[in-house]
Amino acid sequence: MFDFNNIRIVLVDTTHPGNIGATARAMKNMGLKHLSLVSPQRFPDGVATGRAVSAVDILDNAVVVDTLPAAITDCGLVIGASARDRRIPWPTLLPEQCADMVTADSGHNKVALVFGREDRGLTNEELQLCHYHVQIPANENYSSLNLASAVMIICYELRRASMRAAGSPTPHPEDNWDIERATGEQMEQFYEHLERVLIAIDFHKPETPRQLMQRMRRLFGRVRVDNMEVNILRGILSHVEYHIDKAQ
Ligand code: SAH
Repeated sequence: MFDFNNIRIVLVDTTHPGNIGATARAMKNMGLKHLSLVSPQRFPDGVATGRAVSAVDILDNAVVVDTLPAAITDCGLVIGASARDRRIPWPTLLPEQCADMVTADSGHNKVALVFGREDRGLTNEELQLCHYHVQIPANENYSSLNLASAVMIICYELRRASMRAAGSPTPHPEDNWDIERATGEQMEQFYEHLERVLIAIDFHKPETPRQLMQRMRRLFGRVRVDNMEVNILRGILSHVEYHIDKAQ
């Protein structure tokens, strides 16, 4: 099983307190608690508190240390987030792979997810303290995200991974539909009815069909009408027929 209490977010040398506050908020939104700050330039700070909104408790409990090694000393798995490929290739994960690994590991080890400075990211030395790197596959012409946005993506993937691990079913778009879809038989009857009416009103000429009925099938197939909707459509067609008869 996983244990989110064993996961910490580490921010290295953060310049803007707003990013620290926004990180705390992102963490709390996604169910994480433990924040470590490596020599932040301004902390505590009113701007951080303001940006944290209801996640001030995370800032109050944040651990401040001087160096990255001090922040990860008790961790069995350390993953560094980096926008760029570095000189020495390092095993690099996608956010989803990172989340699966961290979630599984959190049941056994303390895990750190490390994020770098706004202007320069993590140094090579810091990245080499990490077992793996994680890279968010952003636009290759501008791949560097705002620090707190990067934290949010990684934390969101952690939450999704924990839901998968807990066996929470992925919601299906059909889950909250109130009425069953129309059956094949109902749809065949509808298409026959539609064709009859389209001929009766001279819209459809079977001798020059223009693929009309195929196109109607494709349209209604895409919509996947339900039982009540097909009955409404049939009702409309019957009324058209009634008025044609009356007019004759
Ligand atoms: N200009 C810096 C990026 C700083 S962004 C550089 O090129 O390295 C601040 C931090 O956000 C980064 O250190 C990293 O931890 C995280 N981050 C930003 N974009 C990211 C991405 N595409 N993938 C992974 N982490 C990213």
